[in-house]
Formats: sequence, C-alpha cells, structure tokens
Amino acid sequence: MPTDPQSVPRSQVLPLDKALEVIDALPGGGVILTKVEDVLNWGRASSVWPLTFGLACCAIEMMQAFATRFDMDRMGIIPRATPRQADCIIVAGRATIKIAPIVRRLWEQMPEPKYVISMGSCATCGGPFYYDNYSILKGIDQVIPVDVYVPGCPPRPEALIEGFLKLQDKIKKEPFLRRRVARAAAAAAATPT
Ligand code: SF4
Repeated sequence: MPTDPQSVPRSQVLPLDKALEVIDALPGGGVILTKVEDVLNWGRASSVWPLTFGLACCAIEMMQAFATRFDMDRMGIIPRATPRQADCIIVAGRATIKIAPIVRRLWEQMPEPKYVISMGSCATCGGPFYYDNYSILKGIDQVIPVDVYVPGCPPRPEALIEGFLKLQDKIKKEPFLRRRVARAAAAAAATPT
C-alpha cells in the first residue's frame, strides 16, 4: 500500500462524505494515521520560543513584529528573556567583536534542539560596516551556526515572520526522533559496563 498520499491514484481517493462515513463507522469515532515524528515536529514548529537579542536598529523592527499589529504570538512564537527557556535566538543588528563571546555563551546555554535567526544585513555579513571597520563582526555565523538569514537593512516585521515560517518548515522536516534515538544509542554504547 502506498504511504505517500501524493502517490495514491485519484480514482482510489474517497470523496469527503464517504471518508466521513468510514471514520464514523470506526470504533471510538475519528482515527488519525501519521508518524510520531511528524506529530512531535508539528508541536515543536508550532511553539518556537525565541530569545530576542537586539543589538541595533534591526531590533526596533523585531520588537514591532511581536507587537499587536503583527502579533507573532498567534503563531506560537513567544519571546523569552532567558536562554534556558528558549529554543531559538534572534540576533538583530550589528554584533561587535567584543559582544561575540557573549552571544556564543547565550547560545551555549540554550537547550537542544536550538536554532539561530540572523536578522538584517549587519548580523548576516557586517552590512554597511563591512569595509574599514575594526570593531564589527562580519556575520554572526562566525561564532554560532545560523539556520535562517533574514535580509534587509532593516528587514520589515513581515520579513522576520517569513524567516520564522522558513524555520518552521525546517523543523517539520527534521529527523528529530531518529536523531534522538541514535544519540541515546551512541551514549549507551559509549558507557562503560
Ligand atoms: S542591518 Fe541596517 S538597520 Fe539593521 S542594524 Fe545594520 S544598519 Fe541597522
């Protein structure tokens, strides 16, 4: 039996009213067939809690994205003030070489699995400070791994929202459960008996 819904021929797809009859006939009512990993990933993608790390002008647009007009809370994206409760960090604005170790330390304090959004040209590559500047980092990816780059100077709140949609897509496709099982097996194998 094909498992990919796209591969089911049209002639074999039940019309909705027939499908509802089948579901009603099942003991206990509705049944959902899916993979555990997909359900977990759906839950993870629907509740991304970012640590907001505003460093310059881009941070003003980031704040706006969380305010009432754009209201990212409705997508389950709820800002946190501590890395211990966050699974994503938004680096918004230019990072100096001096602050880079602090960004790294905050990222290290976040529990796995964790993600990074680089917001704006400065966080991505140094932006207008790329040339002839002794103090600005030429991209936050020199100190932490970036998952999504949001372009702009500054990016509008809609661009940050699109960045989160891309991150949610990435989370939904991750082999989250399989990776955890593999990591637990590796840890068990490495433990001396
Ligand atoms: S990308 Fe532009 S708006 Fe953002 S911090 Fe740099 S200079 Fe400011």
